[in-house]
Amino acid sequence: MAVVYLARMSPEGRPESVEGKVRRLFDAAGLGECVEPEDIVAVKVHIGERGNKTHVPARYVRPIVDKVKARGGRPFLTDTNTLYKGMRSDAVDHIALAEEHGFSLEGVGAPFIVADGLLGHNEVEVEIDGELHKEVAVADILADVQAIVAASHLTGHPLTGFGGTLKNLGMGFSSRKGKLAQHSKMPPRVDSEKCKGCGTCIRWCPVGAAEVRRNAAFIVEEKCISCGECLAVCRFGAVSFSWDQGSEVLQRRMVEHAWGAVMGKEGKAGYFLFLTSVTKGCDCFGDPGKPLFPDIGVLASQDPVAIDQAGLDLVEQETGKSLSEWAYPQVDPTVQLEHAERIGMGSRDYELVGVA
Ligand code: SF4
Ligand code: SF4
Repeated sequence: MAVVYLARMSPEGRPESVEGKVRRLFDAAGLGECVEPEDIVAVKVHIGERGNKTHVPARYVRPIVDKVKARGGRPFLTDTNTLYKGMRSDAVDHIALAEEHGFSLEGVGAPFIVADGLLGHNEVEVEIDGELHKEVAVADILADVQAIVAASHLTGHPLTGFGGTLKNLGMGFSSRKGKLAQHSKMPPRVDSEKCKGCGTCIRWCPVGAAEVRRNAAFIVEEKCISCGECLAVCRFGAVSFSWDQGSEVLQRRMVEHAWGAVMGKEGKAGYFLFLTSVTKGCDCFGDPGKPLFPDIGVLASQDPVAIDQAGLDLVEQETGKSLSEWAYPQVDPTVQLEHAERIGMGSRDYELVGVA
């Protein structure tokens, strides 16, 4: 059975205490065993879109960097470029924003290196025995690293129900081609009665498929890649999506890309999941909303499925409501967990061990 370690937030919730918890969790979960001297170690982060204040802050990642170095490893911080047109869609802006948010050599003691190159095209095809994919396109940097530590943030997500470790690995380590392969071919629709013509979806659409027609947004189906960004950024609920088909396929494809990202890293990958500042929207949003409930704590494990399952279970136990009920009740987020377990990525059964 998988083991997941939990350091609860201290009652006073002092932010400076989290760093110590991360250090103790690293040791308790045996993550040091994943790192051998001279290993190049990818510390997977999400630096947060510009304006986002609720992502995992750089100071929580510093103890991971320190621990990897103490084992003789050579850590660097990393993430891939986004499909949507924000401040992380190419490496030039991405690195500048990482610096701004403290994810830098000066800020945490390790450089930030974009995993899939200047424009998201640097990739390797990894063979997997998935149900939907036999090979997946992930960031080429993964071929050259010996170990991975992923620092993920639990949030809601409009398309996948929640974002945690599996999403951080699956979408977060895929190249542009890999990200495109995960989206279904079902374009969303705009309700012109609800649309305010604000233009946000048009600015975020990565392929220019959203345009204004008769004072309302319109999605050109032939151009649309069904990435769901317009759905995510519309504040007026004007964009709708076929949840049952679109979300389920996306979750399963995402999981298979996550599997490809860690393929060959058995015993060389560790995971943190931060149940802090849990918001309805994910860290790709400049404004993902206020935290839904008080901080719960931080998890660590060597099992990427168990840690996400434990994160969702803790939210329900501690708040009396599931994260789905808090965020996106129309999406069944267990699809990704079931699929990940079925293909052999990890276990939904786990033992939860408290760490002081
Ligand atoms: S973001 Fe929403 S309200 Fe704004 S133009 Fe797009 S569909 Fe209309
Ligand atoms: S779902 Fe289609 S229209 Fe919406 S942002 Fe993505 S590509 Fe553009």
